[in-house]
Parts: sequence; structure tokens; C-alpha cells
Amino acid sequence: MPEVIFRFYEELNDFLPAQRRKRDFQVDFKGRESVKDMIEALGVPHTEVDLILVNGKSVDFRCIIQDKDRISVYPTFESLDIKDVTHLREIPLRQTRFIADINIRDIVKYMRALGLDVYYDASLSPREIIRISKRENRTILTKSRKLLKFSDVTHGIFIRPGTTVEQIRGIIDYLSLRGLIEPFSRCLQCNKPLVGVSKDRILERIPLKTREFCDEYSYCKACDRIYWKGTHYIKIRKVIDAILG
Ligand SMILES: [Zn+2]
Repeated sequence: MPEVIFRFYEELNDFLPAQRRKRDFQVDFKGRESVKDMIEALGVPHTEVDLILVNGKSVDFRCIIQDKDRISVYPTFESLDIKDVTHLREIPLRQTRFIADINIRDIVKYMRALGLDVYYDASLSPREIIRISKRENRTILTKSRKLLKFSDVTHGIFIRPGTTVEQIRGIIDYLSLRGLIEPFSRCLQCNKPLVGVSKDRILERIPLKTREFCDEYSYCKACDRIYWKGTHYIKIRKVIDAILG
């Protein structure tokens, strides 16, 4: 009978019997089976799965498995302990969201400028940060080892001392986020996605000088801010280029 080798990572192991957790195991199969059906037959809900590698290559749920395939299955939300795993893949997990501790305020603006979703509220207590992290599947970014030691913190990254560029590059490389980066797609103030807006609609709000040289504008519906490629943009662009360079 044809057979495949499965391995599930991180919290996906909670759905498996003890003898199959965190190790390779063999599964026999008959006929034509999709990887999704196989995963669900093993007891793991497909909604919990974000990335499947078959013989080291990323596939979607419809992939039909073949004899001797080696199948690695990863959860929707990356954790502290999968450094070895994130290096295996080129494609980032679909949803990577963050919540920044109040001690790393400096990097929030630039992470948002890269298009990354970073929740930040200077009034939050450590308990509230953990609560929001769990509720919204947000990875905590912090300089506090103490915060990451709370038993109910499941996903967090310790931010080491360094420049803003070094710190953000560290996060991006650690979680393989380059594919998710969309510069200037998110509001720097409130973190909501920006939309394009025509010049005519906002003309009276643009400084006269800016009107002359700039035709492209973005708008944040949530906080009613307008963005354009002015001097502020150029300054941020330099930092972004250094991060991605
Ligand atoms: Zn906004």
C-alpha cells in the first residue's frame, strides 16, 4: 500500500494522539487523496493549518499526495519555537500580526510603513497586551523578557538592543516576512489599511505647493488622514530601504 510520512508542528500537535506528536509518522493511503482530506482524517482541522510542505515545497489543500511523499504541516500562527521551521520556507504565513509592547514604540511607525499590522497603544498594561495577543492572534514584540515569561504568552519575540533598522530586519528575517511587505499601505498613526484617493476629492486639504508636484494620495478612513510622497515620505523611505537592503 502507498504510504506517506507526516509531521505536524507546534500547536497542531494538540490534535494528535501522543505517539504522533512532534515526530515523523507513517500513514498508509488508498487511491487518490488530497492533502486536505488526509490532514483532516488525522484529526487536525484544516482551518488551523496555514502552510503545507510536500517534499519541501509549499502546496495548497488540493494537492494530491503520492507514494513516499514527506508532508510537513504548520499552524496559522507562528511561535517562539519554530526558528528552524521558518528558515525552510520562502513563503510567509498568511496572517502575521503583531502587538507592540510600549517599550518598543520606536519601531512601530516603520513596521507600519512596511505595511505590517502592528497594534500599539501606550496605555496598555502587560496583562492587556497578552489578552489582545491571544484574542487577535498577534505576536507580541517586546524588550521585556519578563513579559514573555508569563505562562499564557504563546507567541512573542524578544527584541534585542540595536538600531531600528537592525531590530525590524531581525523580525522580518526571523519570520520570513519579506513576501508580506507592502510599503505605505497602512496608516502610520492608527494601523488601518490605506486606500487610494483622487486628488480632486481632497484638493482643499492639500497644501498648495504639494498640489503642484504630487498627484498620488492615500487616505485613512479610520482617522481621516491623507498621505502623499512629501519630505516625510522620503525620510521614511530611506529607513525602509535600509531595512530591506
Ligand atoms: Zn489612520
